Amino acid sequence: MSKRTAVIEQRKKIALIAHDHKKPDLLEWVKFNKGTLLQHELFATGTTGKLLEQELGAKITIFESGPLGGDQQIGARIAEGCIDFLIFFWDPLESLSHDPDVKALLRMATVWNIPLACNRASADFLISSPLMCQEYSRRLPDYESYRQRLKNL
Ligand code: PGA
Repeated sequence: MSKRTAVIEQRKKIALIAHDHKKPDLLEWVKFNKGTLLQHELFATGTTGKLLEQELGAKITIFESGPLGGDQQIGARIAEGCIDFLIFFWDPLESLSHDPDVKALLRMATVWNIPLACNRASADFLISSPLMCQEYSRRLPDYESYRQRLKNL
């Protein structure tokens, strides 16, 4: 299958989300990595975003709260190429009303091959990667043939 690429710029477009029981974890991680994170463009779901603005002392782009559509807004922006990095501390011990949205968002991150961390250890490895301060070409499958599949039906 032929491949194409999309560029993740040096200044990355990072979305951050944490479910309620994971918010303290994310806030602690953000506090520790504040200097690095402020070099990038930041996005978040509603409640996470307000907490992050307090922690960072900076304005970020805040979408709806996750259960009210925020996860889907972020997923749509990943598909559009407007967000290319996801830190998503979802709660593995709780069933949530918007579980389908959570699954959809994780799926979009995989479909579009963007860096994705769902826990502290992964987030630590991602943020300390040398790729954080350089451009990166993420490889994408040739989705064009999928878009054209009507011709073959
Ligand atoms: P919140 O949403 O940041 O508004 O709490 C997070 C989520 O549940 O996806």
